[in-house]
Amino acid sequence: MKLKIPFKISCKEATYLHTLVQEGKMTFVQKIGFNFHLVYCKVCKKFVAQIEFLQSKLKNNEQLFELSESKKKEMENEILKNITS
Ligand SMILES: [Zn+2]
Repeated sequence: MKLKIPFKISCKEATYLHTLVQEGKMTFVQKIGFNFHLVYCKVCKKFVAQIEFLQSKLKNNEQLFELSESKKKEMENEILKNITS
């Protein structure tokens, strides 16, 4: 008879739980299951590392997504210039 480990979760569940981490909604039991999964699953461990790397890069470059009106106009003119030429 196969015993079910109470904290053993699938990769799909781990991915879902990672979204809860981001939102700060993970329960204590979910946190144990998630961390236990990362101990033995190298794929999810790498996935989490990649997501955290990307998030840190985005957080450090938030100004890239908030263009000033003058920069928008400059880009618009550049695009129009390339379209018309
Ligand atoms: Zn996994």
